[in-house]
Amino acid sequence: MESATRVFKSVCRSCHGGCGALLHVRDGRLLKIEGDRDSPLSHGRLCPIGTVTVDLVNHPQRLKFPQRRAGPRGSGKWERISWDAALDEISARLLAIRERFGPEAIALGTGTGRHHIRWVSRFGHALGTPNWCEPGFAQCFHPRVNTCLLTFGDFPVCDYTGGTPPRCMLFWGHNPIHSGPDGETRFNVREALEHNPKIIVVDPRRTELAARADIWLQVRPGADDALGLAMLNVIVGERLYDAAFVQAHTHGFDSLAAHVARFSPEWAEPITWVPAEKIRAAARLFAATKPSMLEWGCAIEHTPKCIQTVRALSMLPVLTGNVDVPGGWVFGARAAGRFPSLIENLTPEASARRLGADRFKMLGGEGADLPAAHIPTLLQAMREGKPYPVKAFLVFGNNTLATYANAKLVHESLMQLDFMVCADLFMTPTAELADIVLPAAAWPELDQIVGLPTVAANVVLAQQKVVQVGECKPDEEIFVALARRMKLPVGTEDVKDVLNAQLRAGGLGYDFDALAARGFAEAPLTYRRYESKGFKTPTGKIELYSTRLEKMGYPPLPGYEEPPESPFSAPAVAQEFPLVLTTGGRIPFYFNSEHRQIAKLRRAYREPRAEIHPATAARHGIAEGAWMWIETRRGRIRQKAKLTDGIDPRVVNAEHGWWFPDEPGPEYGIWKSNANVLTDNGPPYDPQMGTYQLRGLLCRVAPAT
Ligand code: SF4
Repeated sequence: MESATRVFKSVCRSCHGGCGALLHVRDGRLLKIEGDRDSPLSHGRLCPIGTVTVDLVNHPQRLKFPQRRAGPRGSGKWERISWDAALDEISARLLAIRERFGPEAIALGTGTGRHHIRWVSRFGHALGTPNWCEPGFAQCFHPRVNTCLLTFGDFPVCDYTGGTPPRCMLFWGHNPIHSGPDGETRFNVREALEHNPKIIVVDPRRTELAARADIWLQVRPGADDALGLAMLNVIVGERLYDAAFVQAHTHGFDSLAAHVARFSPEWAEPITWVPAEKIRAAARLFAATKPSMLEWGCAIEHTPKCIQTVRALSMLPVLTGNVDVPGGWVFGARAAGRFPSLIENLTPEASARRLGADRFKMLGGEGADLPAAHIPTLLQAMREGKPYPVKAFLVFGNNTLATYANAKLVHESLMQLDFMVCADLFMTPTAELADIVLPAAAWPELDQIVGLPTVAANVVLAQQKVVQVGECKPDEEIFVALARRMKLPVGTEDVKDVLNAQLRAGGLGYDFDALAARGFAEAPLTYRRYESKGFKTPTGKIELYSTRLEKMGYPPLPGYEEPPESPFSAPAVAQEFPLVLTTGGRIPFYFNSEHRQIAKLRRAYREPRAEIHPATAARHGIAEGAWMWIETRRGRIRQKAKLTDGIDPRVVNAEHGWWFPDEPGPEYGIWKSNANVLTDNGPPYDPQMGTYQLRGLLCRVAPAT
């Protein structure tokens, strides 16, 4: 007899996520999803990706059982095996590699900040290896987190839930109403926009936000640092700053003022391609309108001067007194509790062997909130065995070939491994290179908590396991099962015990089951905590002049540097590749490289599109909607031309994350339109973070016949 349909509260994680969801489930099968109107973040809304969760979960191409490679690596030949056989084999191979080469010869990888990201590092730490990585750690979000921890002692987020709407919103390299990893922000932003704030947009493209902005600064990709410094110059030079706040709560203002005096808007104009008067107008508007907030995105983190760019931009809300105030930037309650990463299981010697830690202290050393390995150095260790060999790579939820820079070099590196495991929802070109593929659970198939906004965690939401598909297992349970099989000293507790410990540390007063029944819990927001507690920095103030950066041997004040591959820094290359490439902008129907299996989404957005100015397209004989080649020194790809005068004639915007699950494996068209064929992961790197240049690279275009 069929049982009744039940409705469970949950939280969508089809992106980093946070939209409240109601799951209609019968006999362990997902029948329907709808937005949860009670959600304090999304108020019942879901984006196109969340709306098709039933299609994702019940997709016929889901991986449903473990498989072992049955031919040469990458040959596309697989045999079904049991979970016991898979876990036994993984345990035995990892123990053998650890015994022979040391634990650091085992690396772990993941992609995006989903439910299991912290569990990947936790398992690595339990195993004794410091080498785990995620493509965003040097390039996306974490540079902002680590920089702000040094500058503020905490990570500020925009105040959308406190009831005071911002009167000015500055969107910098960020288009959250269409995209953004924490997707629920799109709804928060749309609600804030209903109050008609002044809008400033910094973006090379005329996005929907740029089109409705009061001021649109069409910056040259990769020149954000110069633009930020010029805005600081105006705010300081014209005395637009909040003198009382700056005097009482910041450290190093006089040094900063002297430092930015040289970065006038006229100095910045030829570098940024933004007229000086527009820079002035934007700085004046941001400073004069309170409360103001800065919504920033990963576009500012895609060059080797990433940390200093973030530093410069972070000072705009500081100087204008928009920190920890209603409707401005606020600090979170951190109500999710600190995740037990088990990093204490690593000895200092083991931590010191983290790849890249000796050079990039804010990525892998003392300046990192959660230290991670440097990906180019890790790939080199796979290929060349230097500085020591990395023999095994365990990838949990990441299509590495689509999401790491310089995809051809990544492929070459992965092919050198002795042992590779991939856990994912679907077979991917990356999983095809593995020795063992594990079927991972999708978000309605697992118990987890998430604190949002990310890091701040003012709202804590629960997702609960209410669906079972095939033999799929949550990544978290795979880690626990492996830790037990390998008899690791830590990391063997039940998943729910870990979640409960984390919730206890957060202090909200709910255990996991109680939170799951409610769906979410909110922590009260408090403002101006600095008045009684100061800031958690060495000086107790916001460090405009960073004593910690100085102590680590890095510049204490932000400067300007030209990206290594640009029309100005590499004029000889620009002769052959005269256009500036930007990439990484999101598509509302896909999250990074995911979701292209889902027919409804593919119908809405079938093929990759590259934006190009009509004059540039005409010069190269490229017609609207035609396939065109985009080529850099690394390789070339094809995307369909989208002609728009909303992009500078000197710039091309290529979409990222493209592969074609509907094309034959094992490659699934990974080399056709993948923007990471074009990008580079070589030096020079950001001295603090190890960041490489993903934006503002030089390219050329041609019709693809
Ligand atoms: S924005 Fe993210 S969390 Fe919200 S519905 Fe879309 S995919 Fe899900």
